Amino acid sequence: MIALTGIDKTFGDNHVLKSVSVAVPEGGVTALIGPSGSGKSTLLRCVNLLEIPQAGEVRIDDVKVTFAPGTRVERQQVQALRRKTGMVFQNFQLFPHLTAIENVMEGLLVVLKWPREKAHARALELLDKVGMREKADAWPSSLSGGQQQRVAIARALAPAPKVLLCDEPTSALDPQLAGEVVEVLAQLAREGTTMLMATHDLRLAASIASNVVFLQDGEVVEAGPAADVFGAPRDPRTQRFISSLT
Ligand code: ADP
Ligand code: MG
Repeated sequence: MIALTGIDKTFGDNHVLKSVSVAVPEGGVTALIGPSGSGKSTLLRCVNLLEIPQAGEVRIDDVKVTFAPGTRVERQQVQALRRKTGMVFQNFQLFPHLTAIENVMEGLLVVLKWPREKAHARALELLDKVGMREKADAWPSSLSGGQQQRVAIARALAPAPKVLLCDEPTSALDPQLAGEVVEVLAQLAREGTTMLMATHDLRLAASIASNVVFLQDGEVVEAGPAADVFGAPRDPRTQRFISSLT
């Protein structure tokens, strides 16, 4: 199970997340939607501790980390949680000095200390899954945005994380390239990959999300099955947001 409970995050006097709780069902895709600045990226970054919340709890599987003001999070806990997650960023963030396959192998070699051959085999398998096997030896700079993002997805999946965190995975791409990334994410969704995905792209959300969480001003306004939130939103703020995008 994956659960974020009572997550609080402030930057200076900017209260960005106000006791946010989100349950992420295993094997499903949870879409995080909401206006720009509502705290979606910050919430994702709190799951893998790229940001440390001031209060609350993140639980993935058997790893549970609780936060309290003035209490430091142990390095070991950070590592334990990070090993349960993979992250896909809006702007891909591939290592420019490594080829596609080296990008996918890097975490396996450096963090998990896998032998090179085993890491290579796993990386090839994942590049194949995202349709990038024939570009295994290409440099990131020679790839289109959609191709780079597919490599980034393979890299995030390499250590077999419990949950794939995606922050606006298609928003830096023009529609055609976004389409190839959506296809890959949809295939992963069909295979039961657990995902928590912030997205502005309601078509992406509607096509693959099983659950939707609508965040506004750092608060969960509405959450539930995608069909309910998209089909019959209850809160007027959700209704306004959805109609503004469609
Ligand atoms: P979203 O992804 O929904 O657009 P963000 O999580 O990026 O929203 O931002 C929420 C708020 O947090 C914004 O007001 C933003 O300026 C602020 N914020 C995000 N990251 C930082 C940071 N590292 N330092 C200071 N403020 C930040
Ligand atoms: Mg964001």
